[in-house]
Amino acid sequence: MSPTMRSRPIGPSQRVYSNSAALVSTDLAPRALLGELQAVENSFGRKRQGQRWRSRTLDLDIVLWSGGCWSDEQLTVPHTEFRKRDFVLGPAAGIVPDWRDPITGLTIRQLYHRLAKGLTRPPPPPR
Ligand code: AMP
Repeated sequence: MSPTMRSRPIGPSQRVYSNSAALVSTDLAPRALLGELQAVENSFGRKRQGQRWRSRTLDLDIVLWSGGCWSDEQLTVPHTEFRKRDFVLGPAAGIVPDWRDPITGLTIRQLYHRLAKGLTRPPPPPR
């Protein structure tokens, strides 16, 4: 697990978040893992309020998977936004810098440096 990194919220949320990345070893398929992660979110009191980016107590995402790509109506891996998020790439670069994104072919370290140099468009500032 990486150290935590604080980030400004995306969207209408007022909170500042602590972000971390973890390397998880599991026999679960990605969809089953998503179910487990959502159960953990719920146990932290998270309510799904119907609007994205509302304040949440905990948000657990699957960023990458050793099996490559996964896509169905509930889950897309690699996570569609992770290349634009320094609060994902920074912590992930601390633990798995050489993990390669199967879509772009770039490593986490390379994606992080591209974002830091402004070569990848960052998310819009909160309104
Ligand atoms: P969020 O508001 O960030 O928790 O995302 C809401 C929904 O995104 C979840 O209920 C999932 O079904 C879906 N989702 C799609 N791809 C992913 C992913 N890679 N990791 C986590 N959730 C995902």
